[in-house]
Amino acid sequence: MSCIFCRIVGGEIPAEVVASDLENVAFLDVQPLADGHVLVVPRAHVAAIEDLEPAAADALFRMVQRLAGPVRQALDAAGTTIGINNGGATGQTVPHVHVHIIPRWPDDGAGSVHTIFPRHTTRRLPDVATAIRRAAAA
Ligand code: 5GP
Ligand code: ZN
Repeated sequence: MSCIFCRIVGGEIPAEVVASDLENVAFLDVQPLADGHVLVVPRAHVAAIEDLEPAAADALFRMVQRLAGPVRQALDAAGTTIGINNGGATGQTVPHVHVHIIPRWPDDGAGSVHTIFPRHTTRRLPDVATAIRRAAAA
């Protein structure tokens, strides 16, 4: 088993586990962007969010929702940024689905999700919406 998160899920290598259930394990990121930076991972090895079984996707988001409040409260944070790097092109370094939950405080120096992007677009909204609707219906 070479996947680092599979090895954590399997108890083969240590991690600061903060919660677990039948479908997921949540543990502290070893290189936290902030105190309380948690990763929620499905037990099943799946690289991309679109490849998760529907039940596993449901369970993953339930765990994220269950932990968002406790993570914020435990760190006395004002909120949390919750995100997924989904695919190598996005900066995903571990090819096993994981949701980042990162506590946030006023003036912590981090931006919103919007700050990741230079806001470069070339296509009209209706054209883009049509393309996505077609793909989603297929
Ligand atoms: P990504 O860039 O793929 O969205 O995030 C992967 C995250 O996994 C990084 O924030 C990194 O610090 C974390 N990480 C990588 N290896 C380990 C590990 O062995 N243990 C833990 N707890 N976190 C890890
Ligand atoms: Zn894995």
